[in-house]
Amino acid sequence: MRLASLVAIAALAAPGCAELGVVSDGTSISMGRPHRGWIVDGVRMPDKGEGFFTREVWRARAQRYGTDELVDLLTAVSRRMGKRFKERIVIADLSGKGGGPARAWHASHQSGRDVDLVYYVRDKNGKSVEPDRMRMFDKDGKAKDGSGYTVDVPRMWLLAKELLTAPEAPVQWLFIYQPLAERIVEHAIAQNEPEALVAKAKRALKQPGNGAPHMDHMHVRVYCSKVDKAYGCLDHGPMDLLVEREVEPALERVGRRLRRRSL
Ligand SMILES: [Zn+2]
Repeated sequence: MRLASLVAIAALAAPGCAELGVVSDGTSISMGRPHRGWIVDGVRMPDKGEGFFTREVWRARAQRYGTDELVDLLTAVSRRMGKRFKERIVIADLSGKGGGPARAWHASHQSGRDVDLVYYVRDKNGKSVEPDRMRMFDKDGKAKDGSGYTVDVPRMWLLAKELLTAPEAPVQWLFIYQPLAERIVEHAIAQNEPEALVAKAKRALKQPGNGAPHMDHMHVRVYCSKVDKAYGCLDHGPMDLLVEREVEPALERVGRRLRRRSL
């Protein structure tokens, strides 16, 4: 939720107060936890845009809603990735309208802060393709269905990096099958990516402990925004990536000052 608009609306005591006396001007609020929560005024993720699209199988499930921050993150990251690659990101489920349980498919995805992204893949000839569906991959990143598809590890790293550094929303988790998480991090190290970024990636790229291995997609979760937190958004699990994101601008300023002084 955007602070400025919230304050403006609160000052006017405008109508539009929807649930639980929460004042809302149409920007979203993520309520509760990813496993037990809902969304006030969620935003519908478009079915396609610059650098992304979804497929009928997920459109039909109608799990297309998220917070403004999550939808902003997805559209901005897709746009930036789309400038580098013509193959678009295939965006699967977010949350249902209003959030809440969708147990047929997900334990979490309830509060508008979760989204599944289909892996970047190459076909059996090594050509980059837009995945037509989710496939299960083994620890070497090879499809288990005999199609010859492989996970595009270098491109998955670029996506992870883009998500972890995006200004639109702070990412808490990039849930993914552990052997693939390790391959992606090894690739980042081989590319001489900055240590701090690799450390961030190691903490975010994880197979979740609840037994869902994520062998066929990457599940992205963002932290509660500051304002949503004041209204009842609850983060669950480690907060260190958020804390780091919050102190980074201050560290950057100190660094600049020190550099100026030493000139
Ligand atoms: Zn998921």
